[in-house]
Amino acid sequence: MSRVKRKRIYIINLVWKTEYTYGILIFMLLGFLYGWTSERQTVKTTKLLPSAISGKKIVIDAGHGGIDPGAVGRSGLEEKEITLDVAKRLKRYFSRVGVYVVMTREADLDYSGENGDRRLTKKRRDLLHRVKIANESEADLLLSIHVNSFPQSIWSGAQCFYDGKLPESKLLAVAIQKSLAERLGPNRRKAQQAEYLLLKATTMPAVTVEVGFISNPREEELLADAEYREKLAEAIFYGTAEYLTALETAARPVLTSKVYPELSFPSVLPGTVCLYYATPNNEDLAFKPEVRETPHFEEWQREERGKLVLKELLKGPGEGSALLPCLPPGEWVRSFRLAGETAVVDIDAALAESINGGGASELMALYSLVNTLAVNLDLNAVSILVDGAKNATLGGHIFLEEPLNPRPEFSAGLNDSNR
Ligand SMILES: [Zn+2]
Repeated sequence: MSRVKRKRIYIINLVWKTEYTYGILIFMLLGFLYGWTSERQTVKTTKLLPSAISGKKIVIDAGHGGIDPGAVGRSGLEEKEITLDVAKRLKRYFSRVGVYVVMTREADLDYSGENGDRRLTKKRRDLLHRVKIANESEADLLLSIHVNSFPQSIWSGAQCFYDGKLPESKLLAVAIQKSLAERLGPNRRKAQQAEYLLLKATTMPAVTVEVGFISNPREEELLADAEYREKLAEAIFYGTAEYLTALETAARPVLTSKVYPELSFPSVLPGTVCLYYATPNNEDLAFKPEVRETPHFEEWQREERGKLVLKELLKGPGEGSALLPCLPPGEWVRSFRLAGETAVVDIDAALAESINGGGASELMALYSLVNTLAVNLDLNAVSILVDGAKNATLGGHIFLEEPLNPRPEFSAGLNDSNR
């Protein structure tokens, strides 16, 4: 009799315990998603849907590492250290709400020794191993954390980049960009498309978050601060949670794979060349043209015109101009030729040093060349070699195996990413 009684009590206890644990988990999840946001009156957060978030699997990639420091600030602060710390903080946010996180790295290391093909550069081997980790994980999305830099210190602000192949990537980038602007103060940057190798080669929706410019002294100080890194991780987490909620709810956003507005370059007036330099404003990565008088330009041979245009571009913006050069002054072009309708520019590998590992400086240096050649010579593709080699890279984010097509939307200074 007493044995039976004891058994029954045991069973009741067990049931009660399981429900209790389950209840606590639900309570924690709801509390985390709703409670935290209600504390922040200034941030308008969409009602997050726990069922859309927990149970998901995501890959977090801490950019650079090991032999590759990434961009380096004036104080000696390295990109690889910031990206790892923000990635770990971000992992904690996701783990708390039942998201399974795969990290591409959790220590200061690189994967240049992982891929057996010695013909590939260390940087490419490292990135291809990260691609492998991500693709084998079969995760729902990938977040790659990087830090930006630009030769001039004027630019600041976090910015998200996406690849054009999956419309979800753009939605995710726009959601994180919105969250960063809402949570970290004024930032008029918009999510932008970029040809980063990791984004191109992975199979899931993927976004690179450049969490700020290490080349800007004020932002470098912020990026060194643990509290600010925590806020960055929080903003990236909420942006991602809002994206997942939007995908799941009835108000499902319309997915469109169209990433660029249909734009073309303006026509260049006879006797002038149009040179693209970066704008000093902090709203976008965009170019503005400087029109320079070049008498009899049209009478030159096309290849000679190309050489002249590059020479003018490398002189930098004219005196008194507010525009910013994307390439340092100097003889960076080793050779220029035309192969049919494609321009082939061979540039000096030493240029990579001015890039300083930063995504923005890499993107802007490349497209300053490509867009300027395209508008003046009416070209559709520019192939870039580095020290005569194809498949090269300047900053380690964009690989130059394919010729680059001009991007008029950079030069128009407008970006419809959020429309
Ligand atoms: Zn980077």
